[in-house]
Amino acid sequence: MKISLFNISNFRVDGGAMFGVIPKALWSRQIMADENNTVDLSLTTLIVETGGRVILVDAGWGDKQDEKFFRHAYLHGGSGLTGGLAGCGYRPEDVTDVIITHLHADHCGGCFLNAPGGGQAPLFPDATYHISREQWEWANESNLREEDAFLPENIKPFGESGMLNLIEENSELCPGVTLKLFYGHTPGLMLPEIDFNGKKLFYAGDLFPTTAHIPLLWNMAYDLLPLVTIAEKQEILTEALHNDHLIIFQHDPVTECCALTETPKGIRAGKKGKLSDFL
Ligand SMILES: [Zn+2]
Repeated sequence: MKISLFNISNFRVDGGAMFGVIPKALWSRQIMADENNTVDLSLTTLIVETGGRVILVDAGWGDKQDEKFFRHAYLHGGSGLTGGLAGCGYRPEDVTDVIITHLHADHCGGCFLNAPGGGQAPLFPDATYHISREQWEWANESNLREEDAFLPENIKPFGESGMLNLIEENSELCPGVTLKLFYGHTPGLMLPEIDFNGKKLFYAGDLFPTTAHIPLLWNMAYDLLPLVTIAEKQEILTEALHNDHLIIFQHDPVTECCALTETPKGIRAGKKGKLSDFL
């Protein structure tokens, strides 16, 4: 098994939205806000090569929305999706599987891109897309609260691709890659846990997007069910602490990976660094 990580792009969102009920006086000590109160986030994606498969986790924003939409996302830095793949030694046609953690725009938009002659084309011509059935049905129905994140132009192409595989429950995608379902952020958020040489790596996605979101009450205002997020974090963090798992962050622009440690205040990030520092 080979594991690679790269950052597709940084983007900025409102710092208050990233930390929900936590006062700015506290969260601004962890992540610096600019004059518009936005904070910097990464879009770190994971590639797992195993058993002849190349599995990508999430695909970033893509390019299907207009200039005004992307102006508000303040995209900057990172290596891009195809550039990042190339940096890890892969072409888009090498990707056999894409795990879509959920269908919010910053996670799924990069799988289908504007085609030169109009319409859309798949970036990964041979990939199967794995999405939880609950998330797929929920996003297709959409709702007022998530309307700005569930964009039909991002979601429809998966259904029309003939390459959609709906995941029903916690299960193994292939030996060493387990898919786990969560419900606090959005129904059926699906996060992979990788078994790499006897060490488990949990890709935290939007369950706890940065190291600052490890404390149980530090959660995004985007979460639909905060009490469920708290319970899910408690279970995953406790299991990870006791079994020495590593955490990989999708949105932390500084820390790619960390171990956990127990403190009088609860579970917190221990050693932080690049994944290569740990393996
Ligand atoms: Zn999300």
